[in-house]
Order: sequence, then structure tokens, then C-alpha cells
Amino acid sequence: MSVFLPDEEVLSVPARMRRRAFKFLPDDQYPVDEWRLIERTFTDRYLARVETLLSLSNGYVGMRGTHDEGRPVVQRGTFINGFHETWQIQHAEHAFGFATTGQTIINVPDARTFHLYVDDEPLYLATADLQRYERVLDMRDGTLTRDLLWLTPAGKRIRVRSQRMVSFEHRHLAAFFYEVTVLDSTAPLVLSSHLRNQQDERDTGGDPRKARSFTDRVLEPVSSSAEDRRAVLGYRVANSGMTIACGIDHIIETDNEYSYHSESDEDLGKLVLVVDAEPGKPIRLTKFATYHTSRSTPVRQLSDRCRRTLDRAVNDGYEELARTQRSFLDDFWDRSDVQIKGNPAIQQALRWSSFQVIQAAGRAEGTGIPAKGLTSAAYEGHYFWDTEIYVLPFLIYTAPRIARNLLRFRHTLLDHARQRAREVSQRGALFPWRTIGGEEASAYYEAGTAQYHINADIMYALRKYVEVTGDQDLLRTIGAEMLVETARLWVDLGFHRDDGKGTFHIYGVTGPDEYTTLVNDNAYTNLMARLNLRFAAEVVQEVRRDDPDRYAVLHRETGVTPEEIARWQQAAESMFLPYDKERGIHPQDTNFLDKEVWDFSNTPRDKYPLLLHFHPLVIYRFQVIKQADIVLAMFLLGHEFSREQKRRNFDYYDPLTTGDSSLSPSIQSIIAAELGYEDKAVEYFRNAAFMDLADVAGNTDDGVHVASAGGVWMAAVYGFGGLRDSDGTLSFDPRLPRTWDGLRFPLQVRGQRLTVDINHDEVAYELGDGEPLDITHQGEHVELAPGQTTTCPVRR
Ligand code: BGC
Repeated sequence: MSVFLPDEEVLSVPARMRRRAFKFLPDDQYPVDEWRLIERTFTDRYLARVETLLSLSNGYVGMRGTHDEGRPVVQRGTFINGFHETWQIQHAEHAFGFATTGQTIINVPDARTFHLYVDDEPLYLATADLQRYERVLDMRDGTLTRDLLWLTPAGKRIRVRSQRMVSFEHRHLAAFFYEVTVLDSTAPLVLSSHLRNQQDERDTGGDPRKARSFTDRVLEPVSSSAEDRRAVLGYRVANSGMTIACGIDHIIETDNEYSYHSESDEDLGKLVLVVDAEPGKPIRLTKFATYHTSRSTPVRQLSDRCRRTLDRAVNDGYEELARTQRSFLDDFWDRSDVQIKGNPAIQQALRWSSFQVIQAAGRAEGTGIPAKGLTSAAYEGHYFWDTEIYVLPFLIYTAPRIARNLLRFRHTLLDHARQRAREVSQRGALFPWRTIGGEEASAYYEAGTAQYHINADIMYALRKYVEVTGDQDLLRTIGAEMLVETARLWVDLGFHRDDGKGTFHIYGVTGPDEYTTLVNDNAYTNLMARLNLRFAAEVVQEVRRDDPDRYAVLHRETGVTPEEIARWQQAAESMFLPYDKERGIHPQDTNFLDKEVWDFSNTPRDKYPLLLHFHPLVIYRFQVIKQADIVLAMFLLGHEFSREQKRRNFDYYDPLTTGDSSLSPSIQSIIAAELGYEDKAVEYFRNAAFMDLADVAGNTDDGVHVASAGGVWMAAVYGFGGLRDSDGTLSFDPRLPRTWDGLRFPLQVRGQRLTVDINHDEVAYELGDGEPLDITHQGEHVELAPGQTTTCPVRR
């Protein structure tokens, strides 16, 4: 392979980016709307993508946006966060310390389906004569509504209106209504409502990002019951031993004559409603569905919980649930809505992205955030660093309580992380690269376990959380414990070189760029580890000084001593950072620049993402980057780089970056914006913002890219809004694109609201009641007074 990198490629928008195709949904069928996603005609052309885009979730339970009738369908998918099967990872060649426990999220029984028969003819959308059709995901109401008019083969006009929601207020509850009106004749009508256990057939087609299929039965039936309008099913997961109960209950409302019955078997609970429908008299069937899961609670108890949830839901009714859904989301948008003036399509994409974050995280209590949220089983429902680096910043600034829960969840994995560190012959704790239950689930260690940076990523998020919220309590308890164990790992993993200076090196790790693995001194890792070490030393010393009782507990739990803290400091202060003086750039790792550059000019578009077309050995041999690595470090730790270094690094690495990971464009956008590369910044922003809506990565069928969705918020607020916070103070240096009229976003800082309103000439900072706040605006110190708006001019 020849070395190829003509100068113009360095300067222009990289070829890789031009290769990426936006596959926008057609405007006439999916018109832009700032608050809604609308599908105006029925088509199965985009079925799988739209199933993903119209998914509903509250972070505990999620369901894809499949049609009410259950067909046509590509992936049914209903998922409970953390509810998984375990399996023994079979390595063809085993070696010591390889991950052993595979973990895969399970597709749980589907509660969405209704079957409608009029004159014994089923409503089947793919062949039905639809006179009118509309489906709308409303991001303020948190509902998916469908309204259609069906002309039956016998010439009867039937109006079918349905709606569903997954409640944010009631974590275990989803609700649906299906309303049928025979418009101008009479008809015998049957409507059945199901709760069905059924796994999706999946073919991974060799794509490692998809989830494995289970060939054996995963959910072993334990109980099923049906009484009156209710059915409850219970299962135990074959190998993991987790338990689940789920149930449905109904309200029937109609002035027509009707009868009904319910029934159940081990894989199906259903209610069948038989109606003599008269013209113009609606039949409305409301269904409540509930899920309760556990690691150990017996199914019988979970079934009781289902009954209690259903009792309450039926009693409160659908409208009450819809009201609480709206009020949860009103509050969410009030705290999180980023407004872009002058660009409705971008506004829609941005809101859709923020909505995905709250859908993935809202009620993810006691769990992490899967890479796809609860919109698919891809990536097996695993938690990665995506949570801490891509999603937490948004939550820290808009929903600190959720951020706190997520950090507390990481702490619950600490014992597993300690154990994992021992398995890889290290002291301290090593958080798993990917997991559900806490065990490392990455079988491919080069691009998995070797990403030690996850330790530092989690501590980075902890630090940001504490700085923005002021939550010292969390820091000094579980925070300090995690800091000790992660710092301990770094000191043990790296070594001081015997070179007179004792520089500290970390060898044999993989940075964020998964196209370059097992390297020495990955700059990102070393910088993040340094922060981890310094932060640990600072916090533990403070605890020792200010809170001897707490320190005594910490010492007892971790064995930390002042001598150990001194070693962390020494490692941090001697941390080696690769630098190439001639080029004036930071090599991604010690040997990165020695490699040949990938032959981009002879790599056709259909060979991306490279991971699906080249053996890893081929990829690893070249300078070719999957996702922002140094560029990410320049964002997270911006104060560690001079402006000139940032420019040189970006100019060098950007053309080498394929963006084969959806985690890349948002970060590239942020640094491009900072460097004044406006066109690139906007283009990368569009890549991130339309990642799923326009299927930029080509796999939206397999679920939402949640990290990218969090990245979109960062690209707006940090990128164009120019927010920086890595050195402990808030600074703003806005970079509003010429084509936008304005950008406005709220932040929560130490419990106080700060609204930033940017236009081309000035920025208005509106601080809520409370304390004064010091910020920096374009390098100048500004003291914001509570309850007031301070306006600062924008210098260009
Ligand atoms: C990326 C990782 C990411 C994972 C899950 C991979 O393709 O390279 O950085 O954590 O996807 O989103």
C-alpha cells in the first residue's frame, strides 16, 4: 500500500467525510417539524429505520416503534435495561485472563400488539387500502400516535386511532389505546390485545456490532394467568437466573354491544373483544402493560408487583398518565432545550437527539446506559465509556440527579472492577470495557479490555459532576473510593523509566481509536490518567485533612496511605506525553507516526466502515483512525494544549479519521469550531445531528446511537456555544455559524439556572436566583449577578 496524503486533502474537508452519505427521509413523507417526527404515508421502505426512530423508552423499559398490529416488522424488540442472559464466551484459543462471561440483553414479551378484524378480515397495513395515514412521535407529549382510515375489502370505512407511551413518571408502566370506529355501516369486529413472548430472528451477517441470537429458549416459563381483563406472565432466564413478570390490563369503552374474554398460555396473554359495531360509535381499548425484573426475587413476588402496578394504572386511567408524561417532559425541555434559530431541520434533529438521551437515561436507575439505549439489542445492551464521556455532560448540566445515579451505578461495579484488575495482574480496579452485570464482556481484548482509559473516563465524569453540582458528599464517599482504586491501577500499570528523569510511561494499552491497538504511551490515555492521578491525590488529601473520620473509613476500605498518594503525584508529574518537535504535533502514541498512511484514495466508499472489510491486522498496520483520539483529548483537556498545537494536531489527524465510529463527528465538530474551521464544524455537526435521522452510519436499523445523541448536545453547547469547563471554571467563546441566527440553551450550575442566548453580535447570560457566578467570556472575567441578564459583545 502506498503512502498517500496530498496536501489539498489535509486542507479541504476530508475525503472520508465526503464519502459518508446522508440518506434523508423524503420531505413529503416525513415533513420537518421542530417538535415532532411525522410519517405521513405508510411505507415499508424505511421500516427498520423508522422502528428505531419511533422507539419509546424511559431508560428502564423501551420498545421499538413497530406497528400496533405487530406486522410488517423487522425487529420487534422490547427491552428492559440490564435484564440479560449470560453465556460462556467460547474462545477458539483460550488464554489466561480472557473475559469469560458473555452478557446479552433479552427481548422481553411484547405488549404492543393489537389485532383488528372487521368482517373477519384482518387489518394488515402492508396490503390494506389506506385512505389516510399518519404516525407522529411527539417529543413534548412523549407519545407515538397513529391515525388512519382503512377501506376494507367489503368497502367499509374504518377509522383507527392509536397511541402509546412508556411512562417517565411510572418506571414500570407503558400504556396504549387502540380506538376503532366503523364510520358508515355496521360490522362484526374483533379486537385482540396481546402480551407475547417471542424472540426476534437475527442474522448478524458478520457485523460484530450486532447482538448474538439465542438458539435455545432464554425465558423459561414459570407462571401464567388470565382473569377478567388481565393477563400476567412470569419467566426465569435460563442461565443468568434473572426473573421477570409482565402483565397487561385493559379498559373497554364503547356504546356498542360487546363481550370479551382473556386467556393465557406460557408464551401468550391476551384479551379478545368481540363487538357488534354500529356506525359512528367508537370502540376504545386501553391497555396498560407493566414489567418487573430482578436478579433474584421469585417470579411470584414480581407477579404481585405487576398486579399492584396494573391496579393503580387502571384506577388512574390513561389521561392521568398522559398528563404526568407531559409534565415530566415539560420539565425536561425547560432544563434541556437547545434552541437554534433559523434552521428547523437542525432544530428537529437536535431535539430528537436530546429526546433520545432522556429516553435512554430518564429512569435508568441502578443501571447504566446501553450504547443503543433500549432501542435494539445491538452491542448486546452493554454499557461502555459512552455513558461517561458522551452522555453524562448533558445530564450533569441539565439533570444532575440522573447523572448522580449513573455515577453511583458505576460504584456498584467496583468490586467486579477490583476482581478484574487482579485477573489482569494489576492492583486497584479496572472497570470493564463493556458490561451489564459488572464482569468484562469484551471477548476481543485488543479493542476491549485494553481500553484502560475507561477508568480515567469515569473519573473525568465524576470530576465534572462535582465541579458543576458541588456535590462534595458523593465525592468524598463513593467518589474517593473509586479514585483510590483507579489511581492505584495507573501507578501499577505504568512504570518510571530509568532515564535519569524517571518519566512515567503506560505501555500496552488501546486509546479511543480502535483502529490502532495495543500501543505504548497513547497520548489520550496518559493525559487522562494524569488527571485521574492528580484528582485522586487532591481529593484523598482533602478528605484526610478535613474529615478524619471519613479518611479512617477510606483507609480501612482501601488501605490508602500518604505514601501511596505521593506515588500517584510522582507518576502524574512525570507522566510522559509524546511530542514530535519537527511536526509540532502530539503523536497519538509512541509509534503512530512511524506507520504508513492508509491509502485513502484507493479505498472505495463501499469499503467503509473499514472494520467490516479489512482484517484488524491490516487496519492496525497503518495510520488510520476510527474516531477522535488526540482530538478528543484536546476537547476534554483543552487547557493542556496551546492553540497552535491544537491547530497542528487537528490538521494532521482530521484527514486520517474515518469517522467509522458514530462517536467521532461531534468531537471533530467541537474542535473544528474552536479552531475557526466553520464549514467543517458545521458539516461534522450535521453528521452527528442526522446520524440516525438520515442514517449516516448506515445502521440506524439496529438502534439509536446514543453516544452520538449526547455528542450533538455537546457539539451545540461546547462547540458553537463555546463552553469550556475543564479547568474548573466556566468559560464561553461562542462560534455561531454564519447560517444560524441564534443559539440558546439553559444550564444548571450548582443548582442555579444559567441561560445563554447567543447571536452574532452579543451573548446574553441570564442567571437565576441564588449566588453570583464568575465566568469568562472570550477570555475576560465577568461576574454574573443573580436574577439578572448580563450582555457581552462578541468579538470576532
Ligand atoms: C466505538 C467505541 C464505543 C462503542 C459503543 C464502538 O464502535 O469505537 O468507542 O464505545 O462503539 O458505542
